[in-house]
Order: sequence, then C-alpha cells, then structure tokens
Amino acid sequence: MATVVVTRALVSGADRLEGHEVRTWSEDRPIPRDVLESWIGEADGLLCMLTDRIDAPLLDRAGRLRVISQCAVGVDNIDLKACTERGLPVGHTPDVLTETTADTAFALLAAAVRRVPEGMREVAEGRWREWSPTHLLGGDLHGSTLGIVGLGRIGSAVARRAQGFDMRVLYTGPSRKPLLESRLRVGFRPFEELLVQCDAIVVTAPSRESTRGMFDRPAFEAMSRHAVFVNVARGDLVDTDALVWALETGQISGAALDVTDPEPIPADHPLVSMPNCLIVPHIGSASRRTRAAMFELAVSNLLEGLEGRRVRACANPAVYG
Ligand code: NAP
Repeated sequence: MATVVVTRALVSGADRLEGHEVRTWSEDRPIPRDVLESWIGEADGLLCMLTDRIDAPLLDRAGRLRVISQCAVGVDNIDLKACTERGLPVGHTPDVLTETTADTAFALLAAAVRRVPEGMREVAEGRWREWSPTHLLGGDLHGSTLGIVGLGRIGSAVARRAQGFDMRVLYTGPSRKPLLESRLRVGFRPFEELLVQCDAIVVTAPSRESTRGMFDRPAFEAMSRHAVFVNVARGDLVDTDALVWALETGQISGAALDVTDPEPIPADHPLVSMPNCLIVPHIGSASRRTRAAMFELAVSNLLEGLEGRRVRACANPAVYG
C-alpha cells in the first residue's frame, strides 16, 4: 500500500486508488503551500494541479516520493530538471484535452473577430438603440489568415478547424513540420513574418524560458491594426503591459484570453474593462468529458509510477535515461 497525496478532489478515477492511503485536499481552492509541504514527506505519489508549485525546496522534503502526476498537459509549474535529477518521472495529460482546448481557442477566436463581447456589453448595458449599417463592424474568419504559434497537438487541431472556416493558415515554431504542412495545408513563417502577415494569431506554445514574454511590445507593433490576438497557452508568454498598450492605442483590434498573467486576473485590472478584450477564466480544457479523461489519465500515470512501470505520458522522459 502506497501513500498518495492528491491536491484537489478527483473528478474521476478515485476508485482505482482503492487499496492505497489517499490524502486529498478537497477544498475548492488550491492546496496551501504549508499543507502540501507538511503532507509531501509521507507521499509515495503526488497527483497535482497546475496551480501547485512543485520546486526543488518542496522535492527536498519528499524523501519517499516515486512519481508525480499532473492533471494538465503544461508542466511549467513543475521544476522538471529538479525532478529528473531526483529520478522522479512526471506524468501529464496530453492528447485527451487537445480537441476541447482547440474548441475553446476557436470559440475565442470567432468571438473576438466578430466582436461578440463588445456587442454583448452594449446590449446588457442598455446602450444599443437601433440597427445601423456601420455599427460594430469587425473582421471575417473566412478568407482571412490565421497564424498559429506552436503547431503541436492543440495548434494542429486549431489548424484543422480553421480549414473548415476557409481560412488560410500559417504557423511558426522552433522547427518546421513538413508532414503537417502538407497534411494540414499550412505554411511556415518565421515569428516576425507571421506577425506581419496574419489577421489573427492563436498562441498554443508551451511556457518555457524561450517563450516567456515573446509577445512583447515589438511583437504587437509588428501586428496589423485589425489583428486579433488569442492566447490559450499560458499567460506568461505575453508581456501584459505591452498587450494593454496595444489594445489601448488601437495597435491591434482585439484580444481573447483564456490565460493571463497574473492569473487569476484582478477585476480592476485594465484589461478586464477594455471592451475589445475578452477574458475567460482558464477554461480551455474544461468540458465534462475531457476533465474526466484528464483525471483518468493522471491516475493511470500515478499508478504506473507507483508500480515501478514506465509512465506512459511522461513529461521528462530523460528520467528513464
Ligand atoms: P505540444 O504538442 O507540445 O505543442 C507545443 C508546440 O509549441 C510544439 O509544436 C512546439 O514546437 C511549439 N513551440 C515550442 N517553442 C515554441 C516557440 N518559441 N514558438 C512557437 N512554437 C513553439 O503541446 P500541446 O499539447 O499542443 O499544448 C500546448 C500548450 O498549451 C501547453 O504547454 C499548455 O501550456 C497549453 N494548454 C493550455 C490549456 C488551457 O486550458 N488553456 C489546455 C491545454 C494546454 P516543437 O515541436 O518544434 O518543439
């Protein structure tokens, strides 16, 4: 019997942990750091969320730990290097959330391009008086050019949706993907060229040293004044002050954000009151079916690690040499 620390009530898969000693943080808020620190010393396995910071000081207290299983695909809250050095495999949940997150990206994209949030605010605030031929004119999805920053699993799923909407699709990333280029009919552009050539940008790259802050003031300056910016990746890829500037000055036309920096974004933050900025609370993968699938995969990863088997969905395969 192993001891397992679970940092949020399991949406699915709890029955598969029967026979183990499970300590669950079941309040509907992230586990406080001091509680996690006090529990981790007894843990053979940890099932955690993206809101938990898993760093070297925490791992130093985790003398018995054999596996970490995160219920998310992004693992930027985890010091992967420190885990690998300690021989700890880190499970994550790729693939099962891809299509739902792409759906969310597309919902945000369509809403921002067609100025849905601005229209909603107007109606809700009683400012809509009558129909006008020049009222709230926005862009089109069809016939426009979409730029995908990070043509991985989610980026590819966004590209497939865009083809169905008759969009031209470009992408950028650290490496070209010739197979995907022909299969998805997408063209590669260096980052700076992509910014200039696209009517909309969707960000689906991971948060890591090389991507943090990549959407800075020069990046927004390169974008067209009618461009729409959509982020479903991580908030820290964006220099938030630069985005505020770009929206305030009309340097870009609108933004739609599932993720922000800081997160949660305070209600009095300038971005929140901007009519051309749509923000939702990190709901990219939040469908009932996908959340269940994510928790099932996280439990599978945890059990594989506890049983000394190779973790199937492993974010640090280097741990296996
Ligand atoms: P993935 O399959 O690993 O795709 C990430 C892609 O980003 C890869 O193709 C990678 O290129 C590319 N990339 C890396 N550095 C880049 C850079 N500097 N510029 C442009 N592209 C770059 O991951 P995924 O499953 O699609 O997930 C992507 C990210 O989405 C996750 O890391 C997570 O942070 C975020 N996410 C958010 C939500 C949400 O709820 N909002 C849900 C799921 C995921 P290479 O292959 O050449 O390295």
